[in-house]
Order: sequence, then C-alpha cells, then structure tokens
Amino acid sequence: MSATTPPVPPPKVAEAAAPETREALLRLLDRESAIARATEGRLAVLILELRRVDRLHALLKGPDPAMTLALVVDRLRKALRPEDRVAAIGEEQVCIVLPRLAHPSQAVLAAVKLLRALDRPIVHEGGSAVLRPCVGIATLPEHGFDPAELLMAADISRHIAETREEGYHVFQGDEAVETEVYRGLDLDLERAIRANELELHYQPLVELASGRAIGAEALLRWKHAQGPDGVPPLTIVGIAERTGLIGSLTYWVLNAALRQAAEWKASGRAIRLSVNLSVSTLTDRELPAVVDQSIKTWGIDPRDLMLEIAESSMISDAERSVAILTRLKGVGVGLAIDDFGSGFSSLSHLKRFPIDELKIDRPYVSGMIDDPGNRALVRSAIDLGHHFGMRVVGEGVDRPEVREALAALGCDFAQGNAISPALPAAALREWWAVHGSGA
Ligand code: C2E
Ligand code: CA
Ligand code: CA
Repeated sequence: MSATTPPVPPPKVAEAAAPETREALLRLLDRESAIARATEGRLAVLILELRRVDRLHALLKGPDPAMTLALVVDRLRKALRPEDRVAAIGEEQVCIVLPRLAHPSQAVLAAVKLLRALDRPIVHEGGSAVLRPCVGIATLPEHGFDPAELLMAADISRHIAETREEGYHVFQGDEAVETEVYRGLDLDLERAIRANELELHYQPLVELASGRAIGAEALLRWKHAQGPDGVPPLTIVGIAERTGLIGSLTYWVLNAALRQAAEWKASGRAIRLSVNLSVSTLTDRELPAVVDQSIKTWGIDPRDLMLEIAESSMISDAERSVAILTRLKGVGVGLAIDDFGSGFSSLSHLKRFPIDELKIDRPYVSGMIDDPGNRALVRSAIDLGHHFGMRVVGEGVDRPEVREALAALGCDFAQGNAISPALPAAALREWWAVHGSGA
C-alpha cells in the first residue's frame, strides 16, 4: 500500500544533470523518426505535464524553475533506458522521446514508470510536495510520421490525460475533434451553471452488518448535446478548475444537494448526503463559511452532510489542509477521506486530519476477489481506519461477492453498482422506501 511507501529525498541539486535542451531533443526526434520511417521501426513521443509545480517551487524556496526541472528530469531519466531522451519544453512540461520500440505497448509501460518515478513526495528541509503529473502518448507509425504530427498528437493526449484517473492517455485519432468539443464546453459550463442545467444523481451507501441504507453520495451529471452519456464529471471538474469556475461549481453542487436534502427531510425522510470537494476548494479560505451558510439556508442538520476530499489533495499541502479541515469540522459536518489508497498519506497525516470516514479507492475494492494484493490493502485500510476511530466505506462494489468479502473483513459501509448505481433524486427516493430499513 502506498501509505507505507517512505518518502525518498530528492537528489542533491548538484547531482541533478542540467536538462537536455528542447532543440537537441527536436533534432533527435527528426533523426530518429527518419530512421524509423526508413526501417519500418517504431518510436514514441510522450508529453508529460508536471501540474502543481508551484508547490514544488515553494518547497524549494524557489521559484527557480530551472532547478525544479533539473530535479524532475533527473528522476525521469533514471526510470528510462539509456537511449531514451528527456527534455523540458516549458516551465511545466517535459517531452520524452523513446526511440526504437519493439511494440507500442512499451510506450504505455514507460509512461507508467515515469508517473511512478514522480509518485514519491519530494522532501526538502522537513517539508514535502507531491506532483500530479499526467502524460500524453503518441507513437510512430500509428499516430503520425513526422515530428510535428507526433508532438501535436502527444499534446492532445496530454490534455485528455488530465481528466483520466490513470494519469496517461494514448492518442486515439478522433480526439482532435474531441478536444475541440471540450474547449467549446468551457463557455457552455458557465452558462450551464447559471441556467441550472447540471444535475445531481445519488448513489446510496449501505451498512454491511444490517443492509440498511445510511446515506447517499451526490454525483454531478451534465447531459450535453455533445454525447449520449453527457460529459463525465471529472471532465466537468477539470474544465471548472481550468476556467476559474470551480468556486461557482462547488457552490452549485453544495446548494443543489442541500436543497434536495431539505426536500427529503420535509417529506419525513432525512437522508445523509455526501458531497465531493475538489482539490482547489480545499485551499479556499471561504469554504467553511460557505458551507455553514448553505446548511443554515436549507435548515439541514450539519451531521447530515458529509464532505468527501480525495486523499491526494489533502496531503499535497498538509498544513493548510489540517487548518481548513479543522474549521470545517467546527461547522459540525462530517469529513471523509476519498479514494484512500491512491495517495500517500503517512500515519502521522492520518492522525492529524479530523476525519470521520475513510473510503477505500474503487479499484482495490472491485479487485479484491481476484488479487490477494488488493485484498491485503483493503484489509489494512479497514484496520487502519478503525484504529483511528473512523468508519470505513468500500466503494466500487460491483459484484455481490465483493460485498460479502467486505463484510467478512469488518468493513462498515459499502457503495457500488451491485448495490445501486447513482440514481436521479426521484428514483433514489423510491429505492430508499424499499431499502431504507435494511435489505
Ligand atoms: P468518486 O468520488 O470516487 O465517485 C465514485 C465514482 O465511482 C462515481 O463515478 C460512481 O458512479 C462510480 N461507481 C460507483 N460504484 C461503482 C461500481 O460498482 N463500478 C464502477 N465501475 N463505478 C462505480 P462518477 O459519477 O463518474 O464520478 C467520478 C468522479 O468525479 C468522482 O469519483 C468524483 O471524484 C468526481 N465528481 C463527481 N461529482 C462531483 C462533484 O459534484 N464535485 C466534485 N468536485 N467532483 C465530483
Ligand atoms: Ca467521492
Ligand atoms: Ca472515491
């Protein structure tokens, strides 16, 4: 489990080689792509975006972008073959050329290795920072033959990778169009928030011991003419973060959820609701006051609101997170650590965060039947949560066997499609009438 991965100190700055220049890398790409074309060989171009690089600058008492990049490039180089080349192409972007590949899947393997190389917190003088990199991948001959084409395809993929949980994305061909569509959405989102076009669906949580429903998680939905399934929530959040709309979006979600909660309460059935908060809201000093105000506006008992914060966003700036979480706790709401297992909380972090509930990340739970490693992680997350007095939720229960396995390990609550997918408000109310007192 990553929670036990010890942070590794960065190389001393003197050890980190100066990054290769952009020009040298482009010359290499010219040369290698000509060789690949002539020999029917393969190569891959990866564009890696560092994200959160400002936190690294702050940690290193910068800002000295050159020093930061040298440090990062050094870590990346160590993860690659000697013939692979890495160069900074901007303050936050690195380009990687992987010449002479035997198979396109090697490019994905390399991307995963690069993401892992940057997984560990960078520790410096008692502080630490974690980057949240993402990588776009394009290969020759699949996605183009000349350097400009490959760079563009890798960049489009990088843009899409930002919204993908796995952190990388391989170019698919029709995405030039897709990214254009998403760019158009930037403007649409603002209008959609104002026009109340977004919607919340609610996925129930049940208590494993009794089968009783105990609450529901509000999940954002935006039915958009662009696609049958609408726009994925992580894309909506990504657009909002990028365009400065995240504050309005959070405010909208919070109020829509609490309004719904008030309606249910008025009809005689209070349902505890969980609301997701994104990374940037956690650094918003106004947040506790906004939450307090919304609860009062809708007349909700603060204990009936649970705020979910991803593990990874809590620990990127632990000091500030502790301060904001403590103030939120003061408002009386419950706090949950979401996607537990995907970040790097150390035990000392967990002890300091005033958290009520721990939600184990979906892939570990859904994979716990077939993979003993996942099962071990789930077991230790449950023990760890209980040890710190938290209630533990297994999410991603997509088969009945997973629900049984979680119950056998003493997990408190479960959530997942095998119990119920996220439902529109009216459908949740009907579901609740059947399962509210146990199933
Ligand atoms: P999350 O907070 O981890 O939410 C759980 C996600 O897992 C939901 O995806 C849910 O539909 C899905 N899920 C639940 N059970 C199963 C299952 O058994 N199998 C599978 N394959 N999936 C299952 P969804 O609705 O697509 O949301 C994705 C993510 O988007 C959420 O992950 C959350 O990080 C973000 N998100 C959604 N709504 C909001 C919101 O209102 N605000 C913010 N900031 N983020 C949101
Ligand atoms: Ca969540
Ligand atoms: Ca989650």
